[in-house]
This record gives sequence, C-alpha cells and structure tokens, in this order.
Amino acid sequence: MHRVDRPPEALDTPDFDGQVYRLDEPVLDVPRLQQLLLRQTAGRVIAPLRLDALDNTARQLHGEWRGRMLRFDFEQVILAAGKGNGALREMLGLAANMQLRPLNMVMTRGPLPALHAHCLGVSANPRLTITSYPLADGETLWYLGGQLAEEGVGLSDATQIENAREALAELLPWIDQKALRWACWPVDRAEVANQGRRPDHPTLLRDGDIHTLWPTKLAFAPLLADHLLRAIRDAGIQPRPEAAGDFSAPPTARAATPWERVTWC
Ligand SMILES: Cc1cc2nc3c(=O)[nH]c(=O)nc-3n(C[C@H](O)[C@H](O)[C@H](O)COP(=O)(O)OP(=O)(O)OC[C@H]3O[C@@H](n4cnc5c(N)ncnc54)[C@H](O)[C@@H]3O)c2cc1C
Repeated sequence: MHRVDRPPEALDTPDFDGQVYRLDEPVLDVPRLQQLLLRQTAGRVIAPLRLDALDNTARQLHGEWRGRMLRFDFEQVILAAGKGNGALREMLGLAANMQLRPLNMVMTRGPLPALHAHCLGVSANPRLTITSYPLADGETLWYLGGQLAEEGVGLSDATQIENAREALAELLPWIDQKALRWACWPVDRAEVANQGRRPDHPTLLRDGDIHTLWPTKLAFAPLLADHLLRAIRDAGIQPRPEAAGDFSAPPTARAATPWERVTWC
C-alpha cells in the first residue's frame, strides 16, 4: 500500500478532504472472467445438474440433467459451490461445516465516475466500499458495501437505499445523486465455519476423496486451486481428457450479474 499524490478522477475535486492510498490488489472484471471460464470448459459443463446420491463404496455419483439420469464414476469429488457447499456436504453424509455472513449490498447506476475504493473512518472496517462497472448503455454502476452493507441486513430496501444516499452525501458530497437509480442486493458470504469471524485463509477441507473449497476471497481462488491440484496429484491422479468419452454438453450461458437481475427504482 502506498500513498498517491494525485487522487483518481472521482476524488479529484477541491471538496475531497482525505488522503488516498493505492492498494496492491487486482480489480477483476467478473463477467469477463465468467466468459473466459466458459470458453475454457466448453462442452464439459453439465448444468443444471441435480445430484441425487453418492455411493462411496462403488465410487459413483448419480444425478439428473435435462431429464437424463447420469452416472459419474469418480476418483475424487471436488465441491466448489460457495453457499451450496453446505447442502452438498450434507447430501454426501458430511457435516456442513459452513458459516454464512450476510450483507445487504446497495447498487446505484447513472452518470458516475469509475472508482474502486474503501472509505476508511476510525473503525477497522471500511465505512463504505465502492466498486464500479461500466454498463452497456454508457452508465456506470457502483456496487456499495462495507459498514453500510454489514449494518443494513434485514432493513427494507427503502431504508437501506436512504442509508446509502446519506453515506454518499456525507463521504462524496460532490456526487450528483439526482439522476441515480437504486437497488438492494442481499447476499451471503459463505466460508468454512469460524465462529462467525472471517477466516484468515482460503479453505480446502479434505474428507477422504471429497474436497470442499471455500476461497474466502475471490483473490485467493488461484492459490486455492494450486493447493487442490497438489492434493490431487499427491493422490496419484493425472488429468485424462479421454475420461469424459465422447460426451459433449451444449453451451451454457454466463450467470446474470446482480445488476442484471434487479428492478431499479
Ligand atoms: C458482496 C460481496 C463482495 C465480495 N467482494 C470481494 C472482493 O472485493 N474481493 C474478493 O477477493 N472477494 C470478494 N468476495 C468473496 C468472493 O465473492 C468469494 O470468495 C468467491 O466468489 C467464492 O468463489 P466460489 O466459486 O467458491 O463461490 P461462488 O462465487 O459463490 O460460486 C459458487 C457457484 O456454485 C453454484 N452452485 C451452488 N450450489 C450448487 C449446486 N448444488 N450445484 C451446482 N452449482 C451450484 C452457485 O450458483 C455459484 O454460481 C465478496 C463476496 C461478496 C458476497
């Protein structure tokens, strides 16, 4: 982390009263990352799949996909379903071992500048966290979290949006809110159980041949993937593209982003 002399455009105004530090963290374009993963896995993504049963003795998983019953002969099972891991683990006879920490995120869109920032006050948690995305219609979206989202759980949309407006008016008063549209997005962070506190590390749980992954942060996903690959190699398993036979699944679509799913007010 280092202090910057020239603030980014969104904060470059005489009204800005603070200091700007640049963090050594990458900013990911999640929809593009989704597209890339889809391209790399084309033909091998079976979705939506309903898993019915695991037969650990026969090392078989049974499920249903588009009306077809499927059987998977497995050597190892890898669960990487975020919040879905708990139910999958229970279906496989394991304790869920998962915690959910809820947030009530707020989104706003309009003629906004690009900005990725934590606004820090005296607390260790950011008062407001802003990430921004350019939208196809030329508007910019701000995704607002931090203390606003932590303390807004369970509030009505109207109250939470009012809180967001007040936080923006206080912290970035030069932002013109007249043309902005708003929406709330309640969401859970899913992690390995850690007495309700954020785990310090990404998690790989190993239960025999079943691996469960909770990266804790998306930024830790590559590190966790390395751990997983090592565990699989240590088990003597090598990639075998022919294992899928001539099966090829039809293309799947990228999941919609939160801002593509909400009704704006
Ligand atoms: C509001 C918010 C802000 C965040 N900000 C950051 C940040 O700034 N930086 C950072 O590094 N991390 C951040 N994180 C954490 C990050 O999002 C997660 O660590 C990361 O998404 C976990 O990736 P994952 O693939 O394990 O799980 P997910 O991203 O949750 O993906 C799991 C997928 O599995 C699917 N699924 C669930 N159940 C099943 C099932 N039974 N069968 C098939 N599919 C299933 C789900 O639909 C989902 O698509 C944030 C999280 C939240 C909630």
